[in-house]
Amino acid sequence: MYAPPVQRLITELSKLPGVGGRTAQRLAFYLLRASEEDAGALADAIREVKERIGLCEVCFNLAEGPTCRICADERRDPELICVVEEPSDVISIERTHEFAGRYHVLGGALSPIDGVDPDDLKIAELFLRVEADQVREVVIATNPTTTGEATALHIADGLRRRRPELAVTRLASGLPVGADLEYADELTLGRALSGRRAV
Ligand SMILES: [Zn+2]
Repeated sequence: MYAPPVQRLITELSKLPGVGGRTAQRLAFYLLRASEEDAGALADAIREVKERIGLCEVCFNLAEGPTCRICADERRDPELICVVEEPSDVISIERTHEFAGRYHVLGGALSPIDGVDPDDLKIAELFLRVEADQVREVVIATNPTTTGEATALHIADGLRRRRPELAVTRLASGLPVGADLEYADELTLGRALSGRRAV
């Protein structure tokens, strides 16, 4: 239907998350209309990010060079580690300005159905890190989903067996700020109730 180079572009674009065939087609036509300069800038940005950005050898966050900016920052508390699923979660937590420790990025969550086992994530690396360094608390900030919860339990269990005195915490699940109780679903309200704290 299309010339092979156009079909190839549509095929590649449709591999992007959230991009279906129709959107891939629309993006391809947008790029065909775009100036040589704009299309080239996009291609160069993709190439550059793949060449220059890798994973931090300590925490597996995205890094330009061997370690990420957070691991390289000596003001960050090395005894406090926040465990997240993806590098984008680091950005979300950094935006709160509430966390002054370091991170550990797992690279996903445990999901036996999808074939994601502990060996596929940076879990062994976390255990090594906690055993080797002076760590006093690990905050598990995996997503409040079935896979995120399973991952949190697996990690908490492994940490407790290796370092029984270590504080292992989980992000509180709560109510969205600015919302009424009557609009919260039972699961969220139930979690907010069980995670209540003194005021
Ligand atoms: Zn790092």
